[in-house]
Amino acid sequence: MSDAPRADRLWPESRAARSLDVLGIGQNSYDHVAELEAFPRFAGKAAARRYETLPGGQVATALLGCARLGLRGAFVSTVGDDAPGEAVLRPLRAAGVDVSGVRRIPGAKTQIALILIDRASGERTVVWYRDPRLALEVRDLSRASIERARVLHLDASDPEVACWAADVAREAGIPVVLDADRYRPELDAILRRVDFPIVGLEFAETYTSGGSVTDALVGLSGAGARLAVVTLGPIGALARQGERRIESPAFRVEARDTTGAGDAFHAGFIWALLQGLDAERALRIANAAGALCCREIGAQGGQPDRDALEAFLRAHEPIAWTGP
Ligand code: ADP
Repeated sequence: MSDAPRADRLWPESRAARSLDVLGIGQNSYDHVAELEAFPRFAGKAAARRYETLPGGQVATALLGCARLGLRGAFVSTVGDDAPGEAVLRPLRAAGVDVSGVRRIPGAKTQIALILIDRASGERTVVWYRDPRLALEVRDLSRASIERARVLHLDASDPEVACWAADVAREAGIPVVLDADRYRPELDAILRRVDFPIVGLEFAETYTSGGSVTDALVGLSGAGARLAVVTLGPIGALARQGERRIESPAFRVEARDTTGAGDAFHAGFIWALLQGLDAERALRIANAAGALCCREIGAQGGQPDRDALEAFLRAHEPIAWTGP
C-alpha cells in the first residue's frame, strides 16, 4: 500500500513534528451485550443465549482500533469513579493509548449501553445511558494537547467541546474526522468544522429528514467536508469528494456482531489517511476493518491489527456494489 500521488492524497503531507498520531475526544461505554435467538415482541420477554459485559464506546473503540494498527493515540473523555470506569480504560491503557486526559467524576456513573444482538443477522440494537455529569468541558483540553496530534477524531456528544477542538485543529492544519449517530440542529456548527464526517445511515436519514444517502452526502460536502462518507453496514460505504461520488462496497464475512464495525471503519480510515492514501484506497481499507470487526462479539474484540488487516486485504475482494 504505497502513497497516492500527491494530488490524490486525502490530506497534504505535513512537515510539522507531532508526537501523536491521533487524539480522540468523545465517548467510552461499558457495554452489556446479550445475544438473542429472536427479539421479544414489544413488552414481551426473551431469554438471552449469552450475556457479557464488554468495554466499548465509539471514540474509545476507534482509538483502540488505531492502536492495534500501530498508531500512537491519546484519549480525552470522562468516566465515573466506579468499576466500569476502570474496565473501559484498561484495554486502552494495555494497547498503549494515553488515557491521562480522561477525567474521573466523583459520584457519576460511567456511560453504559445495553446491546441486544440478533443471532441470525448479527445486527444489534442499542440503548444507552449517559450520566449528565459526564459532559466534557473545554477546560478538559488544552491547545497543546490537540496540536501534538496528526489527526483529531471527534464524536458529537459534547458539541461545544468538539467545535473548540476542531477550530484548534484547523488552525494547526490537522485533519478532523467525525463520527456521529443521529443528526440534531446543534451539530451544524460541528459539521462546518470537520474534514471527514463518517456517519451511519441513521445520521443520514435524520440529517435529511428522510431524504436519500446522496442528499446527506451533498449536504455534508456543502457544509465543508473534504470527503463525506455514509457507512451502510453490509453494503459498504458511499462517499462524496467534491462533485465525485465514490461507491465502496463491503467485504463478505460471517457477521456475529456488528457492534464496533463503524468504529473499526473509522480506525481503518484514520490509518489510511496517515499513510497518505487516496479516497478509494482509504475506503477499501476502512471497509475491510469494519468487516473484520463483525467476526467477533463485542465492539473491541474484532478490531484488527495491521497484519490481520493487510492479510485480509490481500486475500479478499469486496463484493459488487448493491447500494443506493
Ligand atoms: P455502525 O457500526 O456505525 O452502525 P455500519 O453498520 O454502517 O456502522 O458499519 C460500518 C462498516 O462496517 C460498514 O461500512 C462495513 O464496511 C462494515 N460492516 C458492517 N456490517 C457488516 C457486515 N454485516 N458485513 C461486512 N461488513 C460490515
